[in-house]
Amino acid sequence: MNLRLFSVIILLIYISLEYLFKVDFSGMHYLRNFTLFIFIFSFIHPLLFKNIYFKKAQKLNIYDYIQSDSSILPEKSVPQLWAINKRNVSSFSFNAGKTSHIIINEKYLDKLSLSEIRFIIFHELHHIIKKDIETNVISWAIVIAFIPFILLNLPILNEFSVVIAIIFLLVIYGLTVALHFFFSRKREYNADKFAKENTSLIIAKETLDKVKEMEGVKESGFTLYNTHPTINKRKSRLNKS
Ligand SMILES: [Zn+2]
Repeated sequence: MNLRLFSVIILLIYISLEYLFKVDFSGMHYLRNFTLFIFIFSFIHPLLFKNIYFKKAQKLNIYDYIQSDSSILPEKSVPQLWAINKRNVSSFSFNAGKTSHIIINEKYLDKLSLSEIRFIIFHELHHIIKKDIETNVISWAIVIAFIPFILLNLPILNEFSVVIAIIFLLVIYGLTVALHFFFSRKREYNADKFAKENTSLIIAKETLDKVKEMEGVKESGFTLYNTHPTINKRKSRLNKS
């Protein structure tokens, strides 16, 4: 489903529950946070990106890297490619309405060969085609805001003693966090696999090695855009996929 449509629908549901039906659920603020998180991500965030971030970015022609007759490029909207000179940014992609964007750090363009840059572009292209970023953001919002709301309102909680209830909540919550990370990593491995299939295993490993070298030791760290597992894990997965 379209993320913006989804965000408007859940906003309307939240407003009706809170102000029209005046329901008395526990943890309504979790539901409000969930709604706002998705709304901001789908409407405000792309605007900020376009107006602040991209002013400093250099627009590239994606066809310099991928053939214009490539059947892989999304039919309706070909992603825009940007080079950015910013520390802590490697490569990522996002959709803003109908347009999608791929952002690559300038140093990657300097230091990687054409085939290696293609690997990075194909990796991001897979995220765009599969709508991985949206899925990731929704999944994260569900974990931090929607699951707590549901858990707090489970009728079964009243049957338990306080201690059992807390353990139950922690276990279920921990499981949902683990599931989120499991699937976000799976999306990364799938993007690597797709990029490998469109380049080669040798190029794939070479690119990951160079990326690791450029990033230094600081290759982990989690943001909503960067959910990549460590380079070593990605490389060992590439051998199997
Ligand atoms: Zn990725």
